[in-house]
Parts: sequence; structure tokens; C-alpha cells
Amino acid sequence: MAMKDFSFESIQQKIERFDIEASSDESGQVIESADGIARVRGLPNVENGEMVQFPNDIYGLVFNLEKDEVICAILERHTAVREGSWVKRTGRVMEIRVGEGLLGRVIDPIGNPMDEKGPVATDTAYPLERTSPGVVDRQPVRVPLATGYKIVDSLVPIGRGQRELIIGDRQTGKTTLAVDAIINQKDTGVISVYVAVGQKQATVVKLVADLARHGALENTVIVNAPASSPAITQYLAPYAGCAIAEYFMYEKRRDTLVIYDDLSKHAAAYRHISLLMRRPPGREAFPGDVFYLHSRLLERAAKLSDTLGGGSMTALPIIETQGNDISAYIPTNVISITDGQIFLEADLFNSGVRPAVNAGISVSRVGGSAQQKMMRQVSGTLRIDLAQFREKEAFSMFSSDLDPETIAQLKKGKLMVELLKQDKGGPMATVDQVISLYAGTRNLISDVPPELIADFERGLIAHFAEKHAALRTSLAEKGILDKESEETLRGVIQEYKKEFLDGSASRN
Ligand code: ATP
Ligand code: MG
Repeated sequence: MAMKDFSFESIQQKIERFDIEASSDESGQVIESADGIARVRGLPNVENGEMVQFPNDIYGLVFNLEKDEVICAILERHTAVREGSWVKRTGRVMEIRVGEGLLGRVIDPIGNPMDEKGPVATDTAYPLERTSPGVVDRQPVRVPLATGYKIVDSLVPIGRGQRELIIGDRQTGKTTLAVDAIINQKDTGVISVYVAVGQKQATVVKLVADLARHGALENTVIVNAPASSPAITQYLAPYAGCAIAEYFMYEKRRDTLVIYDDLSKHAAAYRHISLLMRRPPGREAFPGDVFYLHSRLLERAAKLSDTLGGGSMTALPIIETQGNDISAYIPTNVISITDGQIFLEADLFNSGVRPAVNAGISVSRVGGSAQQKMMRQVSGTLRIDLAQFREKEAFSMFSSDLDPETIAQLKKGKLMVELLKQDKGGPMATVDQVISLYAGTRNLISDVPPELIADFERGLIAHFAEKHAALRTSLAEKGILDKESEETLRGVIQEYKKEFLDGSASRN
């Protein structure tokens, strides 16, 4: 009878035999191998998460421990693992080779190079899974991680060590936002890891070329588990990327930025594996522990204490929604694990508002304390301005006689929406963002026609760089708008605006 194995005698005997067995080299036999999953018998002491070895240097990862069987996911060349093959314990958990040699490289989650640059030079190995640093090992998020996008750095600021979710439907600019954030780190000393899960090869190739063109590839590691790769590879990719960032954070005391693009596909890969293993499916057919899948990954982001070297890992996970539905299973889970979310909306994107950030529901719960003072000074009223604009914009479509206050709010809102638009690949330095936002939020450019705002801004920033470099530099260094610099700033903006409007009038 099945219950017999759980009888007291049986457990006691097992305990007595434990010491001898645990130290022996166990080997067993494959009883079934299909779809990259092997059922194995004869490894009674193997542990969950342990690597096992099959013939021909093929490895597997233990996923399920059942009563008389162990279920493993086969990592590579799974069709070569046959029924009847031997299988051995390795006593090791899954690891990835790490080192400075990874910078500028594209690798798969096992560590094999996927670019044409030859073998990867590494100096040590890091486990794919690691417990996250505890409370005493951390310190508060205090230093900004600038993305270069005005709307993000002003409204949903990200700090080093924070986890901020980028969420939106397909083709809303999620990847672009994340990759531009990497590009913006090229002179900040931050090391980036971009993890591509289930994407087309061509997309990743283009992205690597973009990073190279902007000079950001040499500070970036790309972990790629393309759509054509096995589900187990896609499942492992985020943990591999995280381990690489941990190497730079713990060992090299560096600030790091990790992008997981995206965790929806990661969850789908995990569901795929779980269903093949015949685990009981739950909500949306995901296995019951899918929350733990992402929480144990994102908990590893941190700003480390000074005792541990003060390095950091900022995580920007990406989630793809269907029809803006953030209440689906995976989105709600990840929203609850992160410190805020940047919500990108297809309607905004299609109407030309790019980045398509919905300012009303995008939040950052910890980044505000990392934001530079001058940024806080200029962005204080921004969220309210935008919210009032959205509300009144809808309302004004049905009404013709509006009061002057509403007209003014509409006008300012429209102008701010224009000012916050930003093309991809055009990250702005924080000081330039401050100059631009100051002009907008302080009503200094209400007479500039909305369609000329982009031109005006470009000209204004160039004007500061050429003619008022000293003011710009001192602002950037002080990080605060004192009375005196504010006066000068205001004066320069007005002076430039006059020049700009005169110029545009004479052109017409
Ligand atoms: P997917 O769901 O396919 O992963 P995504 O949400 O990651 O899409 P992207 O690939 O980043 O979206 O962007 C979609 C398209 O929009 C791309 O062609 C990109 O160049 C363009 N795009 C994104 N952001 C901007 C921007 N700020 N300015 C101009 N074009 C943009
Ligand atoms: Mg994308």
C-alpha cells in the first residue's frame, strides 16, 4: 500500500541510513524522457535545485521531488537523453561563470557566448539562486538612477537599488524605455545587464547594435534566451542575469542595473515546464508557486550597506499586459513585489505621446528620496497639472463656454504634454531636464505654440550649453535652485524665448 512508506519505521530507517547515503555518489536511471523533461529513479537523496548529469556531458536541473521519482529539466540537447540512460548526482547547484570579461558580450543563460567574439573570459562562478540580502545588509535608496527621460526622472524617479516595473501592452515602448535607461548609464559607471526572455533573435541583434552605436555596450552584459530556445533556458535567464549583476554588486562594489524583458514570457515558460511535469495548474493555469518565482528574483535587488561595499542592483522588470489589464494574475503579482510601476498606454502611444507614460497611475514609492532637490523643485506641481488636464480635456469636448481658469489649465496641460514628449535615443542630462521643466511649470512659455515646443526646447538647451555654460555647470554641481540661480535661469529663458519667437515670426 502506498501509505506504507510513510510509516514510522520507514522514516526511522531512512534517518538511520541518511549519513551513509548522503555522502555516496548516487546514480540512477532515466525512466522517461520527453519534451525536455526526464523522470528519474534511484536518486533518493538528490536535492531540489541540484544539477544532475546524463551521458554525453548533458546536464539537468532537479525540479520536483516525488515519492519514488525525481523530475528534471534537461538543459541542453534533450533529445539525446533516452529512457534507460544513467543519471548521476553532481552535488552542485546551478551556477554561471562570471567576470569582467562578460562586459560587452551576449551569452545564453548557461554562459555560452552567442556573439562572434570567441570564448568568454571569466574568473569565478556564481550560483543562479541566492538568498536576498537581509535588512541589516541594506541601506535606504538615496542615489538617483537617471533614465534620461523627463517624464520618468521627474514623476516616477528611480533610485539605485529600487525595483520599478515597466508595464504596458505590446508595442508601447517598454523595451525602448529600458534600453535608453541603459544608454544613459554610459558615463555613470553603472554596469547594466539586459535579460531577453522569449524575444525574436532579430530584436536582440538590433538592440545590441543600438547599445554599441551609443557607446553603452562595453558596460553591458546581455543574457539572451530567445523564443526559439527551450522553456528551461527562458526560465533560467532572469536568474542568470541577476547572478551576473550580483557579481558586480558584491565582488566589484559596483552599481548595477538589470532589465528583465519580460517576466510575462518568463512566467509562461515556467507554466510550460510545470504543465509538462504535471504539476497541478491553478489560476490562469499557472502553478501555485508562480508568485515565488518573481518575488525571489526581485528581492535580490538592493542597495547594500557600506560594510558590504555599498554596491547596488536596480531592477526594471517588464510585464506585457493584454488590453491594459493590470489586474491579471502575473501583473498584480509583480506590481505587489516592486516599489512602483511605469504604466505605458497604447492609446497615448498611438496618439503620438511618447514615452506613453500614464502619469495618473504611474508611481515610484522610494525614488523620490533619491531625486535631486532641483528636480523636486521643478516637478512639484507636474502630476496635478497633468491630471487636471486629462480630466478637463475629456470634459471640454462636450462644452463650448469654458471659464478662464479651465482654459488656462487646458492650455498649460497641453503644453506640458508636448514638453514631456521625448524621442527615443535622446536622453537628457538632469540639469537640461530641469531647465526645460522650469520653463514649462513656471508658465514662462505659455505663448509658445504647442507645435513649436519641441523646436523651442532643443534651441533652449543648445542656447544654455553655448552661451550660459557656467550657469548650467554650477546648477548641475549644486543640484539645487537657489534664489540667485533661479533669477538668472528665468532671465535666460525669457531672453531666449524672445529670440525664438521673433525668429519664428520672421520665418513665417
Ligand atoms: P513589444 O511588446 O513588441 O516588446 P515594446 O513595448 O517593447 O514592444 P518597443 O519595441 O520599445 O515597444 O517600441 C515599439 C516601437 O515604438 C519601436 O519601433 C520604437 O522604436 C518606437 N518607440 C518607442 N518609444 C519611442 C519614443 N520615445 N519615440 C519614438 N519612437 C519610439
Ligand atoms: Mg519589447
